[in-house]
Amino acid sequence: MTTANILEQPLREINWMPPQRVRQFERFGITTLDDLLTHFPKRYEDRRTFDHFPHTESEQLVCVCGTVLGVSVKRIRGGRTMVEVTIEEEQATALSPRLICRWFNVYHVQKMIAAGHKLIVFGKPKERAGKLYIDHPEFEIVEGEELSIHVNRITPIYRLTEGITQRIFRAAVFRVLEGLDLATLQDRLPRDLDPTPFGVALRQIHFPDSEPEREAARRHLVLGEFFAMQLFVGAKRAETVSRPGHNHCGSGALMERLHTSLPFPLTGAQTRAIAEIRADLAATRPMNRLLHGDVGSGKTLVALSAMLLCVESGAQAALMAPTQILAEQHYLNFKRLLAPLGLNIALRTGSKRTDSATPLFDHGAWLDSVIDKPGARRPSLSTEPQIIIGTHALLYEGAGLNNLGLAVIDEQHKFGVLQRARLIEQSSAPDVLVMTATPIPRTLTMTVYGDLDVSTLDEMPADRGKIVTAVRDTSKLPDVTAFIRKELEAGRQAYIVYPLIDESDKLEAKATAQEFEKWQKLLAPMRCELLHGRVDPVEKDALMEKFRAGHAHALIATSVIEVGIDVPNATIMLIENAERFGLAQLHQLRGRIGRGTHKSYCILISDATDAPALEKLNTLAETSDGFKIAEADLRLRGPGDILGTAQSGLPPLKLGNLLADQAWMRAARAAAVKLFKADPQLALPEHRPYRDVITSQRKLMLSQIS
Ligand code: ADP
Ligand code: MG
Repeated sequence: MTTANILEQPLREINWMPPQRVRQFERFGITTLDDLLTHFPKRYEDRRTFDHFPHTESEQLVCVCGTVLGVSVKRIRGGRTMVEVTIEEEQATALSPRLICRWFNVYHVQKMIAAGHKLIVFGKPKERAGKLYIDHPEFEIVEGEELSIHVNRITPIYRLTEGITQRIFRAAVFRVLEGLDLATLQDRLPRDLDPTPFGVALRQIHFPDSEPEREAARRHLVLGEFFAMQLFVGAKRAETVSRPGHNHCGSGALMERLHTSLPFPLTGAQTRAIAEIRADLAATRPMNRLLHGDVGSGKTLVALSAMLLCVESGAQAALMAPTQILAEQHYLNFKRLLAPLGLNIALRTGSKRTDSATPLFDHGAWLDSVIDKPGARRPSLSTEPQIIIGTHALLYEGAGLNNLGLAVIDEQHKFGVLQRARLIEQSSAPDVLVMTATPIPRTLTMTVYGDLDVSTLDEMPADRGKIVTAVRDTSKLPDVTAFIRKELEAGRQAYIVYPLIDESDKLEAKATAQEFEKWQKLLAPMRCELLHGRVDPVEKDALMEKFRAGHAHALIATSVIEVGIDVPNATIMLIENAERFGLAQLHQLRGRIGRGTHKSYCILISDATDAPALEKLNTLAETSDGFKIAEADLRLRGPGDILGTAQSGLPPLKLGNLLADQAWMRAARAAAVKLFKADPQLALPEHRPYRDVITSQRKLMLSQIS
């Protein structure tokens, strides 16, 4: 086995590891040396000196080492058992405090611990009737042998599963590291990015000689992870850039006619984005562009302009939306705008619900339908629709998409990036424009969307009315209601949104009915309509149309209206139990108002008092800047949610933190970009190790999908 892939060696080939242990590790998802060594410690205990036994309770976690005086098992209320283990500090005097460790209904403990054992425990001490307890501490029995591994050092503590103890795991890592010639392990980072050798970093992350050395090791390994991710993203990009595509750009005459027919001028940002897209469409490589812009920034118009350019070149353009309501809205909107141009527009949504057993997004069908098959009969654009709007149903139908030049995916975060990756991976793919209204911080853009070109609409249309946001508790509901009524009487419209408490049919129906009755009474004689996930599509359609046309004054709804709905006369957004929604979701909801020239009001009703909820609501009240909100969201939820694999199509991070380690991501990105600049395919012999990194990243990603 060469040094390059020595870490890919399966554990079962290691002769000193008993087969039963190997099976245990395998059940835990660890099958190779690499799996074992990249299962990084979750924390460390400095066992060079232990804490003194506590004298009082505290909020501080303590790590102490003592001798077991006795173990007792007691039956307590409800047929439960409690194990009590009393320990005492070494060289204890009569005055030394004792500590009682307790476990409730945990049976293995009493079999493991006996009087006379030396025990390390970690937990929070609390005081009851003059005695100090730690309930369910993490613990470890210190045995005579192998002291150099488990104590007298900064000791790693791992996230483990039942059956594997800290000692077993730690000893396995220790022996594997001992058995490797660490100096010969292939570096996975350019030296100028970080000078620590990979082997040293691996050893120091598990068994650090000092705090600074652990820090240096972490830096190296996080950079390694980020660099691998950026190489992967770079490779994806290099593939698409090198692929042949077609020129899908017409003269622009149709687009010009659309623009002159609009009652408003384009924003500077829209003009810029259209120019960027136009250049991409004209190029003979497939476009892969993200159109990124806050809610209400006018992405649809940019997309439509691109679609017209494409249609003029003789190809079809399709737009895929995540919900039926949205697809229908786009359809009506496009039909209205394009009627004078005499274009043929079609709507494709599933008339019947997709069976839950069938995948929502069928890559195969979509790809079959979008791949430009050589020799396939090109439909005549005079009879076939030139512009097709649809939901996922677009992907099933297949028909009518065999001359597709441009695919636009609206609110792409609703679909997941994996699908996009599959789409882009195909040869001779159409030009692809994805749009999202979820602003994401830059560190994430260059990761999640690192393989895309990005156009940003960073400017709102000028005629926008102001949005006032207020947080109120339920006691203010009467005042709020009076205010809403006044607005409705003045001709405006309102959304009233409440969270789904339970997804089950019965409860939803009940909650919905109650909400509706309540508001109908409160707002009578103004007309209310009810919209939720289970309203039948035809009815939903009629209902939205009614609201859009101003025949209904208030729309009582679940968050189904979250995405994309555009009714400029609606100026009130009241959200009940606002704390139950996520920050990004609330921002999206608020984006439904402030779309016309009237002043708009977003009222967040909540009785929540906990700090995260308050921070969330106050963030919304303070800013309407989508990017600031995205940062706050990232802080509150952690990047995991945003960089979920299914969503991002990226391999998971084991050590790095996208928020805390942002600067390193930037450094890793710069290093990867530099490499690809020098050699777009990374084909040079000295780039061999990086190709291996990309291959293993790809494997990792694929293992995540399957
Ligand atoms: P989003 O970016 O959230 O998808 P939309 O494309 O739905 O936003 O646009 C929101 C509203 O703004 C629509 O009613 C649209 O007609 C209008 N709009 C788009 N561009 C402009 C502009 N340049 N000036 C004024 N209004 C615009
Ligand atoms: Mg939109």
